Amino acid sequence: MFDSISDKFSSIARSFSGRSKITEKNIQEAVEDIKVALLDADVNLRVVRRFINRTMEEATGETVLKSVNPGQQFIKIVYDRMVDLLGDQENQGLTLKGPDTTSVILLMGLQGSGKTTTAAKLALRLKKEGRRVMLVAADLVRPAAVLQLQVLGEQVGVPVHTEETKDPVKVAKSALKRAKKEQYDVMIVDTSGRMHLDEILMKEITRVSDVLKPDETLFVADAMTGQQAVTIAKEFESSVGISGVVLSKFDSDTRGGAALSLRSIVGKPIKFIGVGEKISDLDPFYPDRIASRILGMGDVVSLVEKAQETIDAEEAERMQKKMSKNTFDLQDYLDQLDRVNKMGSVDKILDMIPGAKGAVSEEDIDTSEMKREKAIIQSMTYAERENYRILGPTRRKRIARGSGTSVYDVNRLLKKFEKMRLMMKKVSRNKNYQAQMMKNLGL
Ligand code: GDP
Repeated sequence: MFDSISDKFSSIARSFSGRSKITEKNIQEAVEDIKVALLDADVNLRVVRRFINRTMEEATGETVLKSVNPGQQFIKIVYDRMVDLLGDQENQGLTLKGPDTTSVILLMGLQGSGKTTTAAKLALRLKKEGRRVMLVAADLVRPAAVLQLQVLGEQVGVPVHTEETKDPVKVAKSALKRAKKEQYDVMIVDTSGRMHLDEILMKEITRVSDVLKPDETLFVADAMTGQQAVTIAKEFESSVGISGVVLSKFDSDTRGGAALSLRSIVGKPIKFIGVGEKISDLDPFYPDRIASRILGMGDVVSLVEKAQETIDAEEAERMQKKMSKNTFDLQDYLDQLDRVNKMGSVDKILDMIPGAKGAVSEEDIDTSEMKREKAIIQSMTYAERENYRILGPTRRKRIARGSGTSVYDVNRLLKKFEKMRLMMKKVSRNKNYQAQMMKNLGL
């Protein structure tokens, strides 16, 4: 799922990430590409328009274009909008009653959408959570549905309530009575679907729903049906009312438009995704994870977020001034070391940058060296940090003792720092160099 759309997105993300300058025109072009990719993926036109307008609005603001890393900021905006499109940040789980009362989950959807399979998958999941589950076979239209549920129930290891009747309301009533009497925590009701929507089906399901007063009314949507799944979900929402969606066949090779449109159009959360035919193939739906997957960018987003937490444009500007005036001192250097530390371990940062793991070896970035340098600077007085030239042999010895290092280490740091300042002076009149330098320094 999402293969073509994520190819497109990741090529946009690649071309934007790390850019130190982008124009409004660049953004317009990228947004146009995104629009085409979304429409190609069969996303609802209204949803596409909303997505594009909001992205455009945010991305062309001053804060993005003038920020230190506008490319990454833009990707972050696209990602955030994508998460919004898919739902809230968090996974929306099931809302069921406490364990001593019987909760009811009603499943609805078209024939072949995956209701019966989903019923068994949910039963397994809830059983693993320690709940006592009973399945109810109220799909009395499809000839093999009852038997299919019985077989699946046996696999899961939960009872299946069946009855010799053609009236699903009757089944619902007696199942509810039985569940209460035998103290089941949850009963999951499989209802019948048709090949297409029809009045009779809707009326029948509404009657079943009136009897059961379900805690969760889940609409099972087949991801392979694309746009149609969205229309049908809306129909069910207005006739019966739904509390959430299970998107089945998420493992299939479809374009993903349904997944991207459902939440926006129907206004109900996608709670689970079916990822295969086995009864264990049901996953909670996490909008943020799926958005990362669609954007084909692994954890780049969390990296951008981390960088944003620790770096801001004003700070960078301040540094730039210091560099050009050659007043960059050891305190500034210490601040920078802290900033890198705040971003987490270097290993973790490397993990998050696609391709960096192989290209930059962990030895290239010596964390123990960073710790040592920090300790040395922290053992200095503020006057010393401001002006390293006052550091004579006695002071160096004191600092080495105070930081648990050697005079050799102190000298090495000072030499490195001196070189750094020299370099900064050299590049301070060259804007391009400066930008590169800021990047290297993590600013
Ligand atoms: P129902 O008519 O709505 O009860 O649909 P079924 O539960 O019988 O499912 C129809 C078909 O879709 C069956 O062959 C299932 O094995 C298959 N199916 C259901 N969910 C999934 C899924 O998440 N992934 C895949 N690959 N197949 C699924």
